[in-house]
Amino acid sequence: MTIVESNTKSLVEKDRENVWHHISAYNEKNPPKIWESGEGAWITDHEGNRYLDGMSGLWAVNVGYGREELARAAYEQMKKMPYVSMTQSHEPAILLAEKLNEMLGDEYKIFYSNSGSDANEVAFKLARQYHQQNGEASRYKFISRYRAYHGNSMGALAATGQALRKYKYEPLAPGFLHVAPPDNYRRPEGQSIEEYNILRAQEFEEKIIWEQKETIAGIIMEPIITGGGILVPHPVYLEKVQEICNRHGVLLIIDEVICGFGRTGKAFGHQHFNLRPDIITMAKGLTSAYLPLSVTAIRKDIYEKFDTGEENSHFRHVNTFGGNPAACAVALKNIEIMENENLFDRSAELGERLQKELAILKDHPFVGDIRGLGFLLGIEIVEDKETRQPAKDERIAKIIGDCKANGLIVGRNGDTVAGFNNIIALSPPLSCTDDDLDFII
Ligand code: PLP
Repeated sequence: MTIVESNTKSLVEKDRENVWHHISAYNEKNPPKIWESGEGAWITDHEGNRYLDGMSGLWAVNVGYGREELARAAYEQMKKMPYVSMTQSHEPAILLAEKLNEMLGDEYKIFYSNSGSDANEVAFKLARQYHQQNGEASRYKFISRYRAYHGNSMGALAATGQALRKYKYEPLAPGFLHVAPPDNYRRPEGQSIEEYNILRAQEFEEKIIWEQKETIAGIIMEPIITGGGILVPHPVYLEKVQEICNRHGVLLIIDEVICGFGRTGKAFGHQHFNLRPDIITMAKGLTSAYLPLSVTAIRKDIYEKFDTGEENSHFRHVNTFGGNPAACAVALKNIEIMENENLFDRSAELGERLQKELAILKDHPFVGDIRGLGFLLGIEIVEDKETRQPAKDERIAKIIGDCKANGLIVGRNGDTVAGFNNIIALSPPLSCTDDDLDFII
């Protein structure tokens, strides 16, 4: 292409010719949006149209767009010291680790990476090595849930329970098993939510026993399944899982990649429940996605089996960009903003109001269920309320299209293979104003 040719082409044309988009297939009739700027909860495309971003990007821009403080934190740190590998250390990484421990209320070692997938890979490798160094080398398997998403890499995708995302790339990492999650809306008739949740938790124990407990390294789960359709468990579920882990020597890995940093109305999603995770993974809201950064937090009593002075007792894992100084500085400033603006409480308050106001939709013939926690909401769309048959693609597409035509971006989630890809997701920035909330409603 000559320079003259290039200059006469539109951004849309150049995009179509050169860019391969994540997970989405575009064509001439349906080009991707090209976003240009953002302020608060609102984003503007290159033609000047404004939308309220009801998904915070990919469930990530928790403090909203256009935060100059975050840009400044990155700029100052890049000027001073743009890069240090985490084989060594630097001030923002140290201060951020201290801050995260204060938020977690327990003692963890903080391991830095770049993405949620990376953080989960680290969790799997660490868990296997821990068991080896703890005299239980046969423990290598992980159990997760169908419908859950844990990332795109061979281990994190193996942990994911959505077959359509996986089957063309299999075989993935070996040793990953799945059980069904609690889906309270679709529980069998006659079972109370509590009974049903206990039964679902017990599936982990059955799997552990059938597989020989000495082979099970860990269980990985989000406190609330997010991308798989906003499945909020009854507290007995997670507490039972914790008890099963304790009894069988299985590590509990909690994936806070979406639920963390205020999304559910507390700093971390697991803090709604009586849990003491061995490993916690986080990303997205950690920097509000202004820069890539993720964390695997490992409880200190697990860490004690590492770096013991014995040969090869250290964790043999390195990545070039994890813990980048500017990303850590942005994360620190991002958390400071969340604290100064009380965004965790604000998330709880906004979510409660949203659920209350949207409750009128429950009478709508196609709305099967409305559920969520904090500023994380799922609306399950069905063809028929009696049979709970999931809504057809056209119906969901119409809702999403109508929201967009009226200036609101919403998500679509669930699991296509199981036919439950019928949940409209809302996960707006926690910094939404009252007017923004009115607009969504
Ligand atoms: N875990 C959960 C719960 C996620 O939702 C995601 C991404 O959406 C990931 C892990 C993977 O994160 P990343 O896309 O940063 O690799």
